[in-house]
Amino acid sequence: MSDSNTEQLQEFEYKAEMKQLLHLIAHSLYTHPEVALRELVSNASDALNKVRFMQLTDSNLLNPDAPLRINIILDSNAQTFSIEDTGIGMTKADLTDRIGTFASSGTLEFLAQMKEDNKPFDGNLIGQFGIGFYSVFMIADEVVIETRHADADSKGYRWKSIGEGKFSIEEIERPQRGTKIFFKLKDDAKQFSEEFEVKQVIKKYSNFVDFPIFVGGEQVNTVGALWHKNRNDVTEEERNEFYKFVSNDFNAPLGHLHLSLEGVVNFKALIFIPEAPLFGFLREQDLKSVHLYSNRIFIQDDCKDLLPEYLHFMSGVVDTEDLPLNVSREVTQSSPVMMKIKDILTGRTLSLLEGWRKDEPDKYDKFFKNFGLLFKTGIGSDHSNKDRLIELLRFESTKTEKGKFTSLKEYVEGMPEDQREIYYLAGDNRDAVELDPKLEYFKKNGIEVLFFLDPADLFNAPFLNEYDEKPLKSIEKADIDLKSDEDSQSDALTEDESKSVISAFKKTLGDKVEDVVASKRLVDSAATLVVGAGGMDSHMERMMKMMNQKQSGPTWKKILEINVSHPLVKNLAQLHRNDGDETLLEKCILQIYEGALLIDENLDSTTEFVARMTDIMEKATK
Ligand code: ADP
Repeated sequence: MSDSNTEQLQEFEYKAEMKQLLHLIAHSLYTHPEVALRELVSNASDALNKVRFMQLTDSNLLNPDAPLRINIILDSNAQTFSIEDTGIGMTKADLTDRIGTFASSGTLEFLAQMKEDNKPFDGNLIGQFGIGFYSVFMIADEVVIETRHADADSKGYRWKSIGEGKFSIEEIERPQRGTKIFFKLKDDAKQFSEEFEVKQVIKKYSNFVDFPIFVGGEQVNTVGALWHKNRNDVTEEERNEFYKFVSNDFNAPLGHLHLSLEGVVNFKALIFIPEAPLFGFLREQDLKSVHLYSNRIFIQDDCKDLLPEYLHFMSGVVDTEDLPLNVSREVTQSSPVMMKIKDILTGRTLSLLEGWRKDEPDKYDKFFKNFGLLFKTGIGSDHSNKDRLIELLRFESTKTEKGKFTSLKEYVEGMPEDQREIYYLAGDNRDAVELDPKLEYFKKNGIEVLFFLDPADLFNAPFLNEYDEKPLKSIEKADIDLKSDEDSQSDALTEDESKSVISAFKKTLGDKVEDVVASKRLVDSAATLVVGAGGMDSHMERMMKMMNQKQSGPTWKKILEINVSHPLVKNLAQLHRNDGDETLLEKCILQIYEGALLIDENLDSTTEFVARMTDIMEKATK
């Protein structure tokens, strides 16, 4: 930002990306322009929440007795809108730093894409981007803010947008604290200078704001702090609008908990499970979690200590009288009150999910599809709820359609009597794992294999260890309980022939592998790699490699299993027996080995692989 200093008035230029953003907002088509009002009211309500807190903790407050309220004044003749609050106000630094920046770098790209696609822009999205204030440019070309911070020694300022690229700030006489924002409405938004229209919007979006909102001198909102009400007195619509207000989501939530507890700890809570991750985010640090209040006084937004990390997709409000008002973030982390609340909220949330699992499985699966990735990490981190969490896990498997789930319980119920182990296979996605040769035996014999398609599944595997006394085993492990298959045995090499070709494999591969053995698990493929008892799953190995990029090549030696019924292996046995072309034999063996590595995505260099394949093809086509 650069500024050209005059005596009183300073002009500022927005950063380039802010300019682009404003340009996009000002020149796009919209649905939901009324969202701008919601954002203005929401900011005013935040500002009032902050000052309510200061009233109790800060003695140096400007107008300590001013009523906390929001006042909207309209003039339909002049087509103007003005909103004023008695909240915390802004300092000059707030005006330059907080107004005029946006948090997420993805914001601009996203908006630009919408514009490019020529889609009308959903005003609802703006709130999610942390640029709520700028939604006002959907309905106005120029905007003025007059504000004074609630600190008694603060000064008043006027912020004014000038055209698209600039704004100015000047000092003004403003005796009272708080913020007034006013503007002339664009022609296509002139309905927002009509009282009737504005009252409707406020009733719809902001009815539960805990401060009176006046339009033309009449209080419009009627509900107040929703979480203080009796659960049965709250309508679904009120609850959903409240959710949208606290979470910035524009969909209704998937579910909620409305609690009022008295006992060891006293608290009220209204928390929600979203329908889907907001805006596609599911990184823990991006999730806005729960707001903490003490007896209706707002203390902290995004209070991550009220829920364990694996439930941080939830949002809403928790209100407790059992915490001192001036509680700091450090204190909330270790406070026994918070821990108690966290335990109770966790337990209740799991009960809610268990209810869905039992009575509304589709809803549960939808939840799991959207939030499973984070939710699953609870297995490793929340020891006390591990058993409940295990029952809530869902997996795709060889017996589910793509995108559909089964559970460990269902798996075990469907196991044939002689099956002693629960099998899984890890991979990046459903289509890839389906093609893994290691599945051939299981598919042929109708044995269910769970698919571990998230990194979290593999990381959980050691914690799961066994379910219903049945060990969980990766089908990549060499020591699983496979029965030999009679029909494939019939056209297989004899034991001596097998031994002889295996010795050729061992000679060629040397210490590249731990061992070479005849496979019981292959049906159509020639070979596959498996790991010994202490070895690491190839998918896990790949993830470790990604995390520690220097290391390369398979770290654990694998056991190569070969299919002694496969025509290629039989041909090689013959070539070996007849002392045929030894270099061809070696090349084929190396090719089979590297092909198996390739399927596991653990082949480091494809150059030799391709050169060798070219040689072999040349021979075959001569
Ligand atoms: P967000 O509300 O998501 O932070 P906004 O663009 O809506 O983003 O607002 C940016 C910031 O401007 C707010 O965080 C707040 O610090 C300040 N602000 C906006 N409106 C007001 C207001 N009425 N009173 C005090 N501060 C405000």
